[in-house]
Amino acid sequence: MATLKSETPLMRQYNEIKQKHPGTILLFRVGDFYETFSDDAILVSRELGITLTKRNNGGDMTPLAGFPFHALDTYLPKLIRKGHRVAVCEQTEDPAEAKARKSKVVEREVTEITTPGVTLSDTLLDQNRNNYLLSIHIQGDELGVAFCDVSTGELGVTEIPFIGLGSLLSTILPSEIITSRKHKNSFTDRIANDVTKTWIEDWVYEGEYGYELLKEHFRTHSLKGFGVEEQSLALIAAGALLHYVRENQKSTMAHIRRIYRHDVAGFMVLDASTKRNLELTSSLHDGRQEGTLISILDETRTAMGARLLRRWLMQPLRDLSGIQSRLEAVDEFVRDHSGRSELREGLGRVSDVERLLSRIMVGRSSPRDLEALLNSLDVIDPLKHFLQSFHSTMVTDIQERLDPLPEVRSLIGNALHDDPPSNLRDGGVLRDGYHPELDELRDISRNGKQYIARIQKELVSKTGIHSLKLGYNKVFGYYIEVTNAHKERIPEDFIRKQTLVNAERYITPELKEIEEKILSAEERIIALEYQLFAELCEQVSYHSDRIQQNASAIARLDVIQGLAEVAVRNQYTKPEVNESTTLDIRAGRHPVVEKLLPMGEPFIPNDVLLDNESRQIMIITGPNMAGKSVILRQTGLIVLLAQVGSFVPASKATIGLVDKIFTRVGASDNLAAGESTFLVEMNEAANILNNATPRSLILLDEVGRGTSTFDGLSIAWSLAEYLHNQPDVAAKTLFATHYHELNELASLYERIFNCNVQVQEHKGKVIFLRKLIEGGADHSYGIQVASMAGLPEVVISRAREILQNLEKHSLDITNKNGDEIPTSDIAPDESPTNGHAPTSAPTPAPFTQSSRSALKAIEKQPEIPQLSLFAGLSDPRWDSIRTRLEGVEPNRMTPIEALLLLTELKRELNR
Ligand code: ATP
Repeated sequence: MATLKSETPLMRQYNEIKQKHPGTILLFRVGDFYETFSDDAILVSRELGITLTKRNNGGDMTPLAGFPFHALDTYLPKLIRKGHRVAVCEQTEDPAEAKARKSKVVEREVTEITTPGVTLSDTLLDQNRNNYLLSIHIQGDELGVAFCDVSTGELGVTEIPFIGLGSLLSTILPSEIITSRKHKNSFTDRIANDVTKTWIEDWVYEGEYGYELLKEHFRTHSLKGFGVEEQSLALIAAGALLHYVRENQKSTMAHIRRIYRHDVAGFMVLDASTKRNLELTSSLHDGRQEGTLISILDETRTAMGARLLRRWLMQPLRDLSGIQSRLEAVDEFVRDHSGRSELREGLGRVSDVERLLSRIMVGRSSPRDLEALLNSLDVIDPLKHFLQSFHSTMVTDIQERLDPLPEVRSLIGNALHDDPPSNLRDGGVLRDGYHPELDELRDISRNGKQYIARIQKELVSKTGIHSLKLGYNKVFGYYIEVTNAHKERIPEDFIRKQTLVNAERYITPELKEIEEKILSAEERIIALEYQLFAELCEQVSYHSDRIQQNASAIARLDVIQGLAEVAVRNQYTKPEVNESTTLDIRAGRHPVVEKLLPMGEPFIPNDVLLDNESRQIMIITGPNMAGKSVILRQTGLIVLLAQVGSFVPASKATIGLVDKIFTRVGASDNLAAGESTFLVEMNEAANILNNATPRSLILLDEVGRGTSTFDGLSIAWSLAEYLHNQPDVAAKTLFATHYHELNELASLYERIFNCNVQVQEHKGKVIFLRKLIEGGADHSYGIQVASMAGLPEVVISRAREILQNLEKHSLDITNKNGDEIPTSDIAPDESPTNGHAPTSAPTPAPFTQSSRSALKAIEKQPEIPQLSLFAGLSDPRWDSIRTRLEGVEPNRMTPIEALLLLTELKRELNR
């Protein structure tokens, strides 16, 4: 910012401080106001809706916007929520001191910078969610990532390939991402716009700086003890993160006590689109929590439990013993109703110990924070006793970890007033009797007059002068007045200050000391309480590891009891999770949809049986609105819940461990990244085919709808074949589709079978029965559903006409037994009901003339190698072509270069 010659001293000081904090709104304390100037003022007045005025700055009119200091808690969070970084600059000296220094301005300093990812403020934090700051170090295609919740002190690191970033971000859900400035251009588009991105000077991500900073922070010679030493890229990211946090918070961040390796290996893989499509924590519709799985599942009683539950949901387990130990613990609380309600009552008295502890450790806590910590610790002892009657491994482990911490409780209990104020400034924080000097000061302050009277009495008895008086004036404060008659009896230590007509006024060093005490008692009480409170917090901090251990034990206990509560309230059952490859869900329900149906409309449960031997791929057809998507999602959710360790909405469920869930649902585009709806769909399909294993579960809700019918149908067909025929990707699959032609697959492939969601047609209207039955459906009733949606009658009747015309040209085809099936013979509600095993051969759907001819080629040549788009993948030539293709950047090629490359590739293929 240019410095004006005639700038006022205040503005000069402002500009100097502002220059040191680029990209940050500076709230500049001037008396009782926080002021902003120039561009900041324009921005702040717009964002906060406050008046923009002008201030004379040495002849120049500078824009100005400000608000009273006590409104900081209202306005600061608003700015942060809008994604800004805000520095608070305070006056750090008394105006009187500045005057004494003959300075025209008081000293000011930035005391804290708050950003979306770096805050300890309760008003900004959502207690049920972690607030992560994520730091990325990029080296070629590899990323070192560190993430930290400053409010709880958690710091994790991991290393992933660049393509894994989307999935990691969808697990961590950071509110701010930092990376080196030099990556700004290559990186901006890759991250969603609702995350604040901050670019850090390059040197912070270079050399040994980060590693050294981490060692210094943890006071260790190396980071081996944390098991992260090998993660060199991630440690660079972590060092930069720590640098950024410390710079902003102006504190050592002592509450970040350890760094751990975020190991994804033990968890089920849920890619970003799966987490989104299954609506685990935010709804597809508006990103809010209503209508999501977490909204149903969160019956936790503490903030720590709520945050842990989110983490569990995002990371279902893959190891059987972990899952079983959670299930066993949940089961224990499901069975014990009165125990559960007693526990819930106890947990309700536990505050957010994790965040309290962080604030205590960085010196930002209030007296009420300590009180809340004390009250929470008071619950531990009875809880520990209570849990003795539970026997599951997990609850026993939690019971053992709970530490009643009597020394911390008495430390706080002996110091803190019973009803402390929320603000240290208000005084009355510490108990009487806690500290002798504090007691004395309080005594003086409360009993100032009596105190003077007592001194007077003491002086009278010491001197024997009965007329001796104590008085006060503004010039020299408290004095002793003795009439001239008693002049001779004045002790030597009396210092004469004033001579009156018939009396003298004196002071003594002792009196001055007392005067000082009386006059400054209030101020000194506050200062001493600040000091003693800080010492108390420091003493509490010594026990941080054990307090933290309690916090995490409580969080686990809370999640377990919460899952039990949900299970009981919603009649969930305990799933059997095993090493088999079978998914057998009886009377499964969608945990969210069943809650949101209009009053009186029952949810219809459905069975789903999949395995790797004969029922690998279920093609689900059925009319629009029948309930196909719901079946897909509820299957995904039930598997996910089981592996989280939760009971499930089904009458019975056997879940053979699933390693990954993939979903391809609906149409969405990513125009910002230059991806059309169809390209997004194909990217998701490619991701599935490249990463699925026979232990995976794939939910395909329409594939190929984003392009022409034949292209789409061909892709869908070929994809299903691939999943069936490639042993290494032969995942259990639910494939909902309106391409009834796909029912034909069942007669061609042994592990593909058809189901449909039943409807009945009555007087031209469709009645949805919502029942999944074996066999394919023949049409979609799309026109009926369109009519229900209120499309103009003229459009509906014309559509019927066109449909009839199209159907007139349809041909009957043969099923796998070679029998002719006339179209009219297939009634939608005629299929076998709800059995698990197919009771008759699947019914193929009629093809139209043109679709039949289009598909003839596929039917005739079911062998994959000749036709499958993917067959070439196993050909070694493909590897070399793929390597070549990966190395080129089409955007940078001229058309001639592209042609030459194409010719070369073709040559390679023909070798
Ligand atoms: P489309 O083919 O048009 O996408 P769909 O067959 O996928 O339709 P869904 O979206 O699964 O249909 O379901 C439509 C609506 O039907 C749901 O929003 C829900 O209200 C209701 N529904 C679905 N399944 C059930 C069920 N089992 N019991 C009760 N209502 C259900």
